[in-house]
Amino acid sequence: MNTEFSLDSLQVNETIDAHGMLLQMGYQPDAIVKDGKLLRVFCPIHKDQIRRSLILDTEEKYFNCQYTQCPAHTGGPLVALYAICMDMTLTEAANRLRAGVQTQVEPILLEKAQALIEQQNYGEAMNYLLQAREEFPENTITRCKIASLHLERGDRDAGFREYMAAAEEFGVKGDLDKTLSIYNMLMMMAPTNERVRRQMAYLYGRLGRPRDAADLLKLLIDQYIQESNPNQVVRICEELVELLPQDAQIRAMLTEIYAGVGQNVRAAKECETAAHLYMEEGNRSAALDILDWLVENIPGQDHLVELRYKLHTEQPGPTPETTQATAESVEPPDEGGWGDFAADLEAELDATAGPTYTPQELTPDDARITMCRQQLEGMSALERYKLKTFLADTVSEVKANYRNGLISPTELDQIRSFYRAFSIAKEQIDAERKA
Ligand SMILES: [Zn+2]
Repeated sequence: MNTEFSLDSLQVNETIDAHGMLLQMGYQPDAIVKDGKLLRVFCPIHKDQIRRSLILDTEEKYFNCQYTQCPAHTGGPLVALYAICMDMTLTEAANRLRAGVQTQVEPILLEKAQALIEQQNYGEAMNYLLQAREEFPENTITRCKIASLHLERGDRDAGFREYMAAAEEFGVKGDLDKTLSIYNMLMMMAPTNERVRRQMAYLYGRLGRPRDAADLLKLLIDQYIQESNPNQVVRICEELVELLPQDAQIRAMLTEIYAGVGQNVRAAKECETAAHLYMEEGNRSAALDILDWLVENIPGQDHLVELRYKLHTEQPGPTPETTQATAESVEPPDEGGWGDFAADLEAELDATAGPTYTPQELTPDDARITMCRQQLEGMSALERYKLKTFLADTVSEVKANYRNGLISPTELDQIRSFYRAFSIAKEQIDAERKA
């Protein structure tokens, strides 16, 4: 950013009314947010339309952009902001601001251009429009006229570019009706254009139409998935969450996307939020689905295993007071199914070992069974539930490791016997309780 300020431009700077300057730059009054002595607007330099990151200090006559990647982040006197946005030198900006008001030259240029367009003298008309644009860049309508003239002359790319720029300018300055009508037109010209979709989505967000915004962002996500661009997928999905923070489905989608790019901690956090939101909606099976999915795909998430257990054991529709106490006190519903559960895992290991495998038989007094019994008897229902999850996860790992050759047939047999021991130990405990 140019930091060479003349004494003259700094004197002018002291007299600038920041609010008036923004209006002169084309900002709509309701696009300017007053915050004490500060004014906040969407940054016209990095074309932000999500956060009002550009701050103008009405007393210090100073501005800066809070977005660290923005060239305006370092800030400067207001006259410099005006010069940058209006594409002028500091001296030109100071003269313009000192004059305070627009001259009557612009309407004359535009009228001439319009007359030439009617005579289909497009080349000449364009010259007038470009001159008006250069001298009065704050008037975005001129930019639209240039865009439409490009289209009229068959230069689709140039027309598209100018319309995009115009829509961004209107968006930044808060003229949302005009922004929307331009984007609608651009969507028709280029329905799969990524930038149009994104901008349109942000605009819907600002217009209080988050569903419409989400639909567009989801299309973009599909597009990025097809292009195998996981970073973009993550970014758009995070924007979706920002737009619709209470939407369980979007959280669930983000859970899987984070897991897909190896961000397991974030995946677990989103999963938890998704499960809670689903429960608030009364959609218990969706809450369990996403928890099951996560626990299966990302091992070691104890708190989610607990949450899943809690949801499994809770009766649907209890009052919040009773749900608090259930985790430790209620027997898990699948308690009686432990034998089948362990037998299923054994069967999985047998299948992994291959058709010629003959499992070791265990006698009822085998030391491994005794050890498993001691462990099981000392456990709370919740701990047993966690153990089951652990055993199931381990089987998946063992299967993979056996196929990779990391586990030998003998080791596999020992692991399988361990599962058999758990199964027998549980059967013994159940039989004694019944007796
Ligand atoms: Zn900025």
